[in-house]
Amino acid sequence: MTKWWELDPARWEREQQALEAAGITFEVDEGARSKGRLTLNLTKLWDGQPLRLVAHYPFNYPFANPMVVAPTLDLARHQTPGSKQLCMLRRNGEDWKPATDTLSSLIDQQLPRVFAGQPGQPEEDLNGKEAEPVTAFLHPQQGSFVGFPAFDISTLPDKGTFKIGLVQLNPLRGTVIEVLDQQGRVLFSSEARSRENFTKRPIVEGRWVKLAERPKVGDANDFLKLAAESDANLSRPAWKPLPNTDVRIDLLALLFADELTWKGAEGNAIVVSRSIGNKTKTVGSTDRALHRVELESRTNYFRRDPTAEGLQKGCVSLVGTGSIGSPAAKWLAQAGIGELRLFDHDVLDAGNAIRWELGRDYAGHHKVTVLHAVLSENFPYTTVVPTTLRIGDASSDDMAWLDKAYEGLVNGVTCLFDASASIGVSNYLSAFARHQGIPHVWMHASNGGWAGLVGRASGKPEDFCWMCHLYYLDDQDAEVKIPKLRSAPESAEVQPAGCLDPTFVGAQVDLSEVSLMGVRVVMDEVLVHVGAQPATQYDWNVAVVDLRDEAGRPQLPKWTPYKLPRHAKCTNH
Ligand SMILES: [Zn+2]
Repeated sequence: MTKWWELDPARWEREQQALEAAGITFEVDEGARSKGRLTLNLTKLWDGQPLRLVAHYPFNYPFANPMVVAPTLDLARHQTPGSKQLCMLRRNGEDWKPATDTLSSLIDQQLPRVFAGQPGQPEEDLNGKEAEPVTAFLHPQQGSFVGFPAFDISTLPDKGTFKIGLVQLNPLRGTVIEVLDQQGRVLFSSEARSRENFTKRPIVEGRWVKLAERPKVGDANDFLKLAAESDANLSRPAWKPLPNTDVRIDLLALLFADELTWKGAEGNAIVVSRSIGNKTKTVGSTDRALHRVELESRTNYFRRDPTAEGLQKGCVSLVGTGSIGSPAAKWLAQAGIGELRLFDHDVLDAGNAIRWELGRDYAGHHKVTVLHAVLSENFPYTTVVPTTLRIGDASSDDMAWLDKAYEGLVNGVTCLFDASASIGVSNYLSAFARHQGIPHVWMHASNGGWAGLVGRASGKPEDFCWMCHLYYLDDQDAEVKIPKLRSAPESAEVQPAGCLDPTFVGAQVDLSEVSLMGVRVVMDEVLVHVGAQPATQYDWNVAVVDLRDEAGRPQLPKWTPYKLPRHAKCTNH
């Protein structure tokens, strides 16, 4: 590719003139340039003294700002420890103006701010109140991950042990499930994983030590040394064997107060390990590694969407985990519904992956089993309960099991969510929800994914119900009606090879439009029901989305809301 300074020589000329005009002397690093990188060695007078700077232009200059390094400075803020890069602009350089800014203007305007932004200086928060935890500047092993329970440093004793459930050794992946004191008492534990998650995987003991102050940036060797300085016992490895391997590992955690929020002093952790065994190349040599740590808690999870925290108190039964139900299951778990009960009898076909939440890898399994496994693993703050149930099937004689399964549909449930795409099942569910007084949301899509419908009912006997919505759909001559959903012609139905029934045609992207709205309504119901929200955010009880126009041409998804009273002919009232 042509380099930017060759593509736009006038721009490069302007850069140089601006530096000269500002009295910044510079020379091009010819070694770097021969490799295609434009790097300048600069000298600028600062407080009457020459200050040495190095500037690297990005590949796509001027669309991103140059990176400026101050090798001789050692600043407490706004400089990356180790690389010595100055943080002159807000994260990702969002203040950079490609048309007018130059390296010279960047230095002239931002360098004084970097100095004014040091601790105790008036503009310490120049880049916004951004915390700078030391762990943000470390270089842990690629692909490693240790989920560490967020903790209160102020009540922490000096040292102890921890239990880590391991999923993978190299790179290390796992979760610290418990942190204990020296007497073996649990001080705090993970909210994301428990011992039950590791019944088939090793749980290994490690040791931790509290540091008097936050450490400087370093690597695995630096932190192993620091741990040994803090507690001499840690200089000797306490090897733990890993089952079914000849690998032995020694895991150490350094716990300390760090700035996780602006000027805060919260508990932070660094995890390092040394190991010997089958993957080390030289006999007797030890692998040392620094692992990526993330502090985990429910609170941390919901920090990115505080309004969703109320969902933790909700319980949703979702019936039908097919094309529109499976993405809904994922979104509800992701949003943080406290308990999600999934009901379906179907097994996933590999060919069905074209419109299912997950792909071919899960073919042959019950859909609810797959969703339970994947969603529980990935969204630990939602309890997923799978039930392989075919509603209406009379072939089973295990009445005790059936009793429990059917009760699970409504017992303790905040909202019954019907994605069954079966009129018989929907009829039953609506009657059951009304009988129990439970809010009920249903959704379905038309053939071809041309249109979809989301409806909701309060569950109160006197209110609009699912059956009312059928009456509104049924009588197309009535004054008040829900227009018949647009759908692909019947000939568009296909019978995939090996299937007994024809299946409908439709793309996941179109069907998901319906699922999304269904999920929003369910979340709204739950938030109202648990008292996290005073009233519903929606003033309709049926909404229809059209993804095609009258001629069957694709169009922007167009929602039409209907605010319907209960239907005069509905026999439910
Ligand atoms: Zn009704």
